[in-house]
Amino acid sequence: PPENSVDPSGSFSKGSGEIGVELLCVVKAVLKKIKRRVLVGDKVLVGSIDWVDKRGAIENVFQRKTEILDPPVANVDHLLVLFSMDQPKIEPFSLTRFLVEAESTGIPLTLALNKSELVSQEEIKAWKSRLRSWAYEPIFCSIDSKRGLDTLQFIMREQTSVIVGPSGVGKSSLINALRGNKHILHAVEERNWFDPILGSKLYEEQRVGEVSVRSGRGKHTTRHVSLLPLPDGGYLADTPGFNQPSLIEVTKNSLAHHFPEIRKMLKDSEPANCAFNNCLHLGEPGCLIKGDWERYPYYLQLLDEIKIREEFQ
Ligand code: GDP
Repeated sequence: PPENSVDPSGSFSKGSGEIGVELLCVVKAVLKKIKRRVLVGDKVLVGSIDWVDKRGAIENVFQRKTEILDPPVANVDHLLVLFSMDQPKIEPFSLTRFLVEAESTGIPLTLALNKSELVSQEEIKAWKSRLRSWAYEPIFCSIDSKRGLDTLQFIMREQTSVIVGPSGVGKSSLINALRGNKHILHAVEERNWFDPILGSKLYEEQRVGEVSVRSGRGKHTTRHVSLLPLPDGGYLADTPGFNQPSLIEVTKNSLAHHFPEIRKMLKDSEPANCAFNNCLHLGEPGCLIKGDWERYPYYLQLLDEIKIREEFQ
């Protein structure tokens, strides 16, 4: 709101995770004309505010720090990659795909392994050292025994997070566990909720989809994402992401950057670069990355997949 504007409808709390005033906003035609889509998580400029009816109009969308497509959320500053120790067990190649997809967004990530109460301490230790060799420090958690939830809550405070991972690992259970009983926002068709007090975060969006004859879902398919305020501040998307990591943003030349152990190997060597700038680490002359690390076969497999995709593009 303008600096000296007053909310005549009463006071509001500006506390962490608290919701101030929600305004029901339309998107100004000028934004639609230039195809400027408003996403959940966008910071927006709102004008024409009617404090009594709590309505406004989105006049501009500020530059996004980040943008992810699945789910469509702007300004995400943390991804939580969630797998489970059992039921289902960790499948290392699938975990690699999720990690590479998450790394490719450039958004900081945390790796958490749920259902840790189902396995022995030895198994946890073994995975810990295995994942360290991948250059990750996983958090072992269990929604059932509440293990690690405090740590996750601490990491996610004051951040906008999205949980990603395969089905069955406990993403929905974790979203419910983390959000406690705080305010639940309800979707309003084709309308956006926005909080002008807490940095103008857009809470919620529900889009009415185009006709989808092939999906058989009828004329109006809806997809909505909500950012739920967390008890210690910060927000969590109510919808998990990357159900099928497509790696669509990953190119054959960028793939290696998404393996932190490669980044580490390069950082630790002198000089810190292979002889060729576009080295794919396939044994080229002057390549610093040998094949003596666990995920090298996964790297090769993903590289093949990406090369084939790029050839057909
Ligand atoms: P999602 O598909 O990733 O969203 O997974 P869900 O949240 O639907 O959970 C899948 C199943 O795992 C459900 O039956 C949950 O009750 C169960 N589950 C979730 N967390 C835990 C946990 O910490 N331990 C155990 N044993 N089961 C869990």
